[in-house]
Amino acid sequence: MKLSIIIPMYNEQESLDSLFVELSGLFSQETATEIIFINDGSSDNTLNILKSKIKNYPTWSIINLYRNYGKSVALQAGFDNSKGEIIATMDADLQDNPKEIYRLIEELDRGYDVVSGWKKNRKDPLEKKIASKIFNFFVRVFSGLKIHDSNCGIKVFKREVTEMLTLYGGRHRYIPLLAHQKKFLISEVVVDHREREFGISKYGVKRYSDGFFDFLTILFLGKYMDRPLHFFGSLGFISVLLGIGIESYVLYLKYILFDSFQQHIALIILGAILIIVGLQLFTFGLMGELIVNKKYKDRNYIKEIIE
Ligand code: UDP
Ligand code: MG
Repeated sequence: MKLSIIIPMYNEQESLDSLFVELSGLFSQETATEIIFINDGSSDNTLNILKSKIKNYPTWSIINLYRNYGKSVALQAGFDNSKGEIIATMDADLQDNPKEIYRLIEELDRGYDVVSGWKKNRKDPLEKKIASKIFNFFVRVFSGLKIHDSNCGIKVFKREVTEMLTLYGGRHRYIPLLAHQKKFLISEVVVDHREREFGISKYGVKRYSDGFFDFLTILFLGKYMDRPLHFFGSLGFISVLLGIGIESYVLYLKYILFDSFQQHIALIILGAILIIVGLQLFTFGLMGELIVNKKYKDRNYIKEIIE
């Protein structure tokens, strides 16, 4: 199989007619292209429509998930069950134009590992455009990855990239960053973007808070994943040191300046809390080290062996 196209969908029944017209116009004759539709626990008629539609296409298939797991897991299920040398993803809601996949592949062939679409002329509500600008600004500043549109639905990958990715929760928004952390080469191509014609966006306002925490996790994982004690240990050390400093100060006030302890109850409590929290952070870091140790026992850091 040369190309696998992965299309996650959750309650997209109204879009399927047009989607299949577009896809079959482009890919029905291409026997080396498979299309995998992921039904992410739709509660509408998506699954039944898909079943009847794929009948005429021998290399098109459906992966049906138990329930709605979210786009990340849907994509992961597609990656895990795809056979193509090149993997493409796109949304099912007709906002992405499938013919752009060819242009993205052209760019991939210029020597990149991931090519992401860039919805430069984005057809979405204003609040979403602004939020996306801010989001991508943060990604650029904190990760050093020069990208305009990290969360574009349409992307193409070399197979080795999708094999490295582990997507769950909201991590699909940071695929370029995850690939960048593993030193894969990433490029962007401006793509056609269209308004959502049917149905509603599946991600409401909660996307913003979710997105923020996912971002912190990914930055943290990238930087401290292999040495959690360095992170929690330093925080813990600072906290214990501050605590000891405060308690010593109180002892100084009591025994040198002859204040009473009662005058400084607040400081005594603060110092004690800082010491306890510090020790906790330290043990937390140690626990993290145990987990990392297990990971390295699994030897999953080899990209390939060349003979
Ligand atoms: N999607 C999914 N599972 C979900 C939510 C969304 O598979 O839990 C699919 C959805 O059907 C669409 C794509 O992910 O094909 C992008 O979702 P949506 O268009 O709602 O996101 P937006 O374009 O608003 O960012
Ligand atoms: Mg959409």
